[in-house]
Amino acid sequence: MAKLRASNSLLRGVEPYDPKYLPAQVGLNANETTFDVPADVRQAIEGEIARMAFNRYPDPMANELRQAIAEWHGVEPDQVICGNGGDELLFDLALAWGGEGNALLNVPPTFSVYAANARLTGTQVIDVPRRADFSIDQDAVVERASRGDVGMVVITSPNNPTGDVAPLAFIERLLQATDALVLVDEAYMEFAPREASAEPLLAKYDNLVILHTFSKAYRLAGVRMGYLLASSAVVAELTKVRQPYSVDAVSQAIALQVVRHRASFDEGIALVVAERARLVSELQALPGVTVYPSAANFLLVRFEQDASTVWERLYERGVLVRDFSAGPLTAGCLRISVGMPQENDRLIAALQTILA
Ligand code: PMP
Repeated sequence: MAKLRASNSLLRGVEPYDPKYLPAQVGLNANETTFDVPADVRQAIEGEIARMAFNRYPDPMANELRQAIAEWHGVEPDQVICGNGGDELLFDLALAWGGEGNALLNVPPTFSVYAANARLTGTQVIDVPRRADFSIDQDAVVERASRGDVGMVVITSPNNPTGDVAPLAFIERLLQATDALVLVDEAYMEFAPREASAEPLLAKYDNLVILHTFSKAYRLAGVRMGYLLASSAVVAELTKVRQPYSVDAVSQAIALQVVRHRASFDEGIALVVAERARLVSELQALPGVTVYPSAANFLLVRFEQDASTVWERLYERGVLVRDFSAGPLTAGCLRISVGMPQENDRLIAALQTILA
């Protein structure tokens, strides 16, 4: 029998991250925008790709894109770092501000990748759970972060899967209370009121990091591009741990066109925001359903009926959503992305039958 040496002991008992990738007619499970990039942007992208040579390595730091992102957000280019999706940058942060002797302060229920990365890098996870209504226990987070043993705090705003925005006054209190890195994950911020973003605080706090992605409002989930805004000192540290060529030339070219044509995405964002409001009222009209307020492109919904059964019945009807009912803090809950009007109609029609 062939021999195989045991892998890194940190992998013992680890379950691979499973995004529950399944085919469906109506895919409302992954918080994507469910329609493609606008036609003018697609045309610009196709023109760029037609002219590209594929034989050379890409610019490792994606400087042209970095410059364009910096101008967009009013920061310096050395305050921007791009990654292969936000996910890669989250792993880079875990490598740079985690590891043995460091702790991650996590505020569950939230995006599970933060804790998974901590585990893979031997970082201790300190949970300060949200309250029953999913609001952050602000005093408890600030107090725990200020004790000096935390490497990084993650605040997701709007939070996945609960949809709520973290108050800016709380984020500023946190930044003042700790020298830990404070990561504000704004993957869904384009769907929230403009004043909710922590971006204005970047000029004041070297320990603030903001994560953005092109996967949600900018409809590039299939392309893999995310970026961080931070102080140049933080970006310099991340440059030490990043994979040199993870941001490929094609993705760089596509994202650059999206930044240049970003105004073309406003209409799609407005449609999602309007559909979110409609979905909230239609879902609330269903029996045994609680909808949590959301500033993102998805809704967390609690069912009196068994949520896994509701999930299955939806899937039988061609509608795929995300089942969160196994999580202790989200028992009875499904997370539903906001789709196009006809997709949302199908979801509501299916739920009306299932819950009747
Ligand atoms: N942060 C949050 C809160 C997310 O929900 C996601 C996507 N599920 C990401 C970051 C990463 O997205 P991506 O890797 O597609 O940029």
